Amino acid sequence: MDYLKLAELLYPNVTKTPADMEAEFEPRKLPEGAKVTRFAPSPTGFVHFGGLFPSTVAERLAHQSGGVLFLRIEDTDAKREVPGAAEGLIKTLATYGVNFDEGAILDENGNISDKGAYGPYRQSRRKEIYQVFAKQLVKEGKAYPCFTTEEELEELQSINKKEEIKNTDWQAQADEKKARMLAQRNITLEEVERNLAAGNPFVLRILALGDPEKKIRFTDLVKGNMEIPENDEDFVLLKSDGIPTYHFAHAVDDHLMGTTHVIRGEEWLPSLAKHIQLFNYLGFKLPKFMHIAQIMRLDENGNKKKLSKRDMGANMDDYTEMGYCPAAVCEYVMTLLNSNYEEWRMQNPDKSYTEFPFSIKKMSVSGCLFDFDKLGDVSKNVISKMSAEEVTQKVTEWAKQFQPEFYEVLAADPDFAMSIFAIGRGGKKPRKDLTTWRDALPYMGFFYDKFFTVECEYPEKFDKADIKAVLEGFLATFDISDDMNVWFDKIKAVAQSIGYTADMKAYKADPESFKGNIADASMFIRLAVTGKMNSPDMYSVMQILGRDKVEQRVNAMLASL
Ligand code: GLU
Repeated sequence: MDYLKLAELLYPNVTKTPADMEAEFEPRKLPEGAKVTRFAPSPTGFVHFGGLFPSTVAERLAHQSGGVLFLRIEDTDAKREVPGAAEGLIKTLATYGVNFDEGAILDENGNISDKGAYGPYRQSRRKEIYQVFAKQLVKEGKAYPCFTTEEELEELQSINKKEEIKNTDWQAQADEKKARMLAQRNITLEEVERNLAAGNPFVLRILALGDPEKKIRFTDLVKGNMEIPENDEDFVLLKSDGIPTYHFAHAVDDHLMGTTHVIRGEEWLPSLAKHIQLFNYLGFKLPKFMHIAQIMRLDENGNKKKLSKRDMGANMDDYTEMGYCPAAVCEYVMTLLNSNYEEWRMQNPDKSYTEFPFSIKKMSVSGCLFDFDKLGDVSKNVISKMSAEEVTQKVTEWAKQFQPEFYEVLAADPDFAMSIFAIGRGGKKPRKDLTTWRDALPYMGFFYDKFFTVECEYPEKFDKADIKAVLEGFLATFDISDDMNVWFDKIKAVAQSIGYTADMKAYKADPESFKGNIADASMFIRLAVTGKMNSPDMYSVMQILGRDKVEQRVNAMLASL
């Protein structure tokens, strides 16, 4: 076969050579050890929690080493593309700290454009580049056209399926299909000419001379050493519309774009033999690979399951509405990604996670377990360390979108809101009341008349007369300018005057000999003032609410008794 002639027949318009491409995409000039990584999503939907893993790893490894992180949009499958998905992905990733140095970006009008010298960064715009390398492979006899139409292939496949159901001679069918495919390898120039003249579409297949009996030794940076069978499948490189498959685009793009570390989901591991073959055929240096395990979750029966697209917690865009703070989500991802992260965090409570020395060796080989409880714990911690000002600003911003009525009161008096968020904040052991911004309203809504309601009744075991006596006694001595000790001593005195003890130890030792205790008396006042059994520090609450409001609420409670 005259391969040069074949290449000209198939790609008459391709005049550039791989050498031209190499000249266009010069090797990057980066310091020794700098890693070039990328995130390469297909624009078929939202960012999955599982997608935040490889992208965060890619971000850390690039930026920790003084390298480059870029975003490539893998939009070679127009049928699966969802309009607006690429734009959405870019925004979501930015929210979670995955900041790209180059690649597909949003311009000021919200349209996608390119930033960087290695573009275009959308595969659909790189058709000419792929064809240059495709033509070269044909010239070298490493790829060949296949004129079997998609319909014919589908027909073959459907025969297989039907036979599978009937369970009759499936293997024979498969063998026949393979034989027919392999026969394509021997297509003659005349047949090619005839097909082209008839306008028949073709796909370009690799000529896979691998022997599955032979094993390739390979080291994945996460999974370790492995042996994989060589590839003998003549897989498609270019589809009939000239658009590449993932395999071909991956090899060409990651080579030209100078990727040093390919970080991707482990679902690509079975295709690795194909990729290694392709890099070899093309004469490209193989990058390092890291295949990241899928995220798991526990189902109702405690069994590990893949966190699927439809599972709660999978869609990163849901986190915003649930009220999770992106910083908390990033913190959680780090705890899952590196086994020594939590220890580091304890020793470095105030540092940014970007200062953590991220290590590939500390990554889990099998799947991490996604767990909302753990995320909640991490989140509480992260929020407890924020300043009152930061919390006020973030809650307000969030409420603007998701709780407009709450937003109104927050925005009307930011200082008032901030004084509330300041309660119990700043010390060594800050309060951990908020897991998400959604918790803010139930936590502090009672400060605003608009949201204040008495949420429960006094427990029946208490005598109404005692409750009244405590509330009245409190009102009689309440002075907003008292300091905390004086204020509390007054409440104690009221409690004691009706036989409630202020000595909790004595009460615990012998509860029968008292009508109640100081905690009960405080609760009577708390429920009147806040409408709740639990609230932040009562003294602070009253200082913020002010005399009139405190008295008004206690009086209202008295009237209702
Ligand atoms: N487009 C591929 C995917 O979304 C990218 C895999 C890779 O990172 O190479 O799975």
